[in-house]
Amino acid sequence: MVVLKCKKCNNKGVITIRHRNITLCKEHFLKYYLKTVESTIKKYRMFTKRDKVLVAVSGGKDSMSLLDALKKLDYNISALYINLGIKDYSDQCKKIVEKYCNENNINLIISDIKENYGKYLEEFKKLRRNLCSVCGIIKRYEMNRIAYEKGFNAIATGHNLDDEVSFILWNLMNGNFQYIKQKPVLEKIHEKTVKKVKPLIFLTEKENLLYSLLNNIYSIHLRIDCPYSTNAPTNILKEMLNKLEERIQGIKMRFYKNFLNKSSQFLPKIDHEIKSCKICGYITSSNVCSFCRLFRRG
Ligand code: SF4
Ligand code: ZN
Ligand code: ZN
Repeated sequence: MVVLKCKKCNNKGVITIRHRNITLCKEHFLKYYLKTVESTIKKYRMFTKRDKVLVAVSGGKDSMSLLDALKKLDYNISALYINLGIKDYSDQCKKIVEKYCNENNINLIISDIKENYGKYLEEFKKLRRNLCSVCGIIKRYEMNRIAYEKGFNAIATGHNLDDEVSFILWNLMNGNFQYIKQKPVLEKIHEKTVKKVKPLIFLTEKENLLYSLLNNIYSIHLRIDCPYSTNAPTNILKEMLNKLEERIQGIKMRFYKNFLNKSSQFLPKIDHEIKSCKICGYITSSNVCSFCRLFRRG
């Protein structure tokens, strides 16, 4: 078996960064990871050291790696964990996040959906709603509400390259052009929205997993997955894209960078009307926002 050597120091390699075609050892990979996070933040002017940043964490490898990287890079961060009450899953995630934040002296905000709004996610099963889409509505709303009410300048999420590429492809395949907003930064567009940023978009799922393992970050990925994640079409696409990547090195990164540079040439410009929800005052394109409709508020 050929053992690849680190391009920088000749020690044993732990990973090949495919779009750059370089193999790195543990030490140089960890440096590369932090450097990539920091350069993405600076390139897209996501936030500065003076900004208050709310990091949305699920307990998974991506968001926990993001939290760890931002802590090491000395940004002014707090963590937010949204407890959706998913059986055998949410409690484990919460414990992992609490343990990490305690040990690393990070301010942790926990939002419990049942305490705040009277229902956990699984209660929407009765209404035959797709739980992943309900979960998305709840998380987006709650992240934004908390960041806005507590005066944060940005919300950082752990979306990685594989998430972005599979999401774009899935929506292109289905003609859902209006959903494709896979940019590194979603600017503030309403008086009650907070800018959203994705500092991990130039790192792959595999790189995040390795970063969390090498740093002994105890993430939920190593124990169990959300029980509703198995049939997600984007997961099937991720597997296919990884097979393609094995044959065509760097294809995922090339696709995403081309998308960032050229998508405005072929995606239709869809201007959603921006209004304020009559019930809660947060952003909506109709009179009542999807969150208030979901919880039948008002
Ligand atoms: Fe939410 Fe679906 Fe992800 Fe589970 S798999 S956390 S329900 S979006
Ligand atoms: Zn090295
Ligand atoms: Zn509302």
